[in-house]
Amino acid sequence: MKQVVVMGAGPAAVVTAIILKRMGYEVLVVGKARRTTYLEGASPRVAEGLARVGCRQALALLGARWQRGAAWGGEYREINGEHVIDRRSLDEALLGDLADAGVSFVDARVLSLSWEGEHWQGTAEGDSGESVKFKAGFLVEARGRNAPKYASDIYTGPLSIALIGSFQGRAGGEPRTLTEAFEEGWAWATIDSQGACSLQLIIDHACLDAPLNDLHERLRPHLSLIPQQLGPLLPLGPVMSRGIQPVLRGGLIDRTFLRVGDAAYSCDPLSGHGMYEAISGAFAAAPTINTLLTRPDQEELACRFYRERAQSLFHQRLDMATEFYLGETRWPEQTFWCNRQKTINAVSQGLSAASYAQVVSTPVVEDGLIVEREVLVTMAHPRGVRFVAGVEVVSLLKAIRAEPIEPGVDSLAQRLSVAPKQIAAALAWLQQEPEIVR
Ligand SMILES: Cc1cc2nc3c(=O)[nH]c(=O)nc-3n(C[C@H](O)[C@H](O)[C@H](O)COP(=O)(O)OP(=O)(O)OC[C@H]3O[C@@H](n4cnc5c(N)ncnc54)[C@H](O)[C@@H]3O)c2cc1C
Repeated sequence: MKQVVVMGAGPAAVVTAIILKRMGYEVLVVGKARRTTYLEGASPRVAEGLARVGCRQALALLGARWQRGAAWGGEYREINGEHVIDRRSLDEALLGDLADAGVSFVDARVLSLSWEGEHWQGTAEGDSGESVKFKAGFLVEARGRNAPKYASDIYTGPLSIALIGSFQGRAGGEPRTLTEAFEEGWAWATIDSQGACSLQLIIDHACLDAPLNDLHERLRPHLSLIPQQLGPLLPLGPVMSRGIQPVLRGGLIDRTFLRVGDAAYSCDPLSGHGMYEAISGAFAAAPTINTLLTRPDQEELACRFYRERAQSLFHQRLDMATEFYLGETRWPEQTFWCNRQKTINAVSQGLSAASYAQVVSTPVVEDGLIVEREVLVTMAHPRGVRFVAGVEVVSLLKAIRAEPIEPGVDSLAQRLSVAPKQIAAALAWLQQEPEIVR
């Protein structure tokens, strides 16, 4: 069986490698383990993804969810809590899970790659300068947002800069996170019960007009909720900066190569899904690679699945972020806000009303492979829905449409070999999709 090499050492690399290993592939991960760190928020869906792949060490690190408040559009709301994690610790735990899964890992920076006619040849360098050479029948690019590009980007959005500062604030409260819009951008703060705070200010790159510490200090007074809740802030170290930009990369996939995680697309941080996208992208990457390696005649279908999935999810996230930006109307003239309130409805671009509520034949994942199946495309589910409550929704719709009078639940259950309560749940779902004519 061909060796798969996964380049990277973050969630996309680790989860892809573990799934491929379980599928029986010989997998080598070559990645530079994260050295710097900051805090990130993770939704319960990240925890679900980690549990699904059995990343016990990473899961144990997530801990309880922190309370979460947001001051946006002039209103304050308490929203679903989120896990708060130190990224370097999470990545170390993921590498522990990788080792537990029996996947070989080389902590090295990939320096060069070449296609040698039948396989990829790569070189990497370890911390003490030692050279590592590797060969791969299939190569997975998971080196994050700075992964080299081999084709032009399909979409790039406005570049934001996160200014990340650590502080000592007021101790004694419940751990919580706060999001707040301000004139030059928005802020995400965390404070634990000891008063340790992290404060990220996300601003337009054009605002980067002073040394980072000075800029952070100058912008902090523009916030109102966060300073009230965090108390006086004592800096604990220099402010760091990170670039953040919604980008959909070109050259996502071919017969021997695939990009996953931020190397494939990265979202606006306001849609807050980076880690989740990396993990769920890995769940899509593994069956795609399995199909390319075991059913080369299905190459076109597998590539189509992977490309369409990435494009559709990227645009959904883009629309979601734009909706949030449009919810803040106080500074329409400010560069940050007007540049980010433009790109609404990327998902529906090119799709007419007639494109919805249609049964289409499309590539889906089944038993670790990409196969073609019928799905129902709706406005809310532009990539199509195959199962609802375990019922094949297209078969259900066809069974209903075949009769002049809608058959009863029991009769449908019998015809589709499922329980009546599953049919009832699927029918309730169909009722909620307004554009479906039964
Ligand atoms: C400031 C900031 C805040 C964010 N906040 C959140 C948040 O709150 N919640 C959230 O879900 N997401 C957040 N994100 C996004 C999230 O960090 C990413 O979407 C996620 O980490 C993507 O995972 P990945 O595995 O694709 O890439 P990464 O996690 O970036 O992993 C890439 C890996 O490749 C390694 N690497 C790089 N170059 C090489 C090389 N040449 N050779 C070998 N290895 C290499 C890196 O060291 C790293 O280990 C944030 C991003 C930024 C920048």
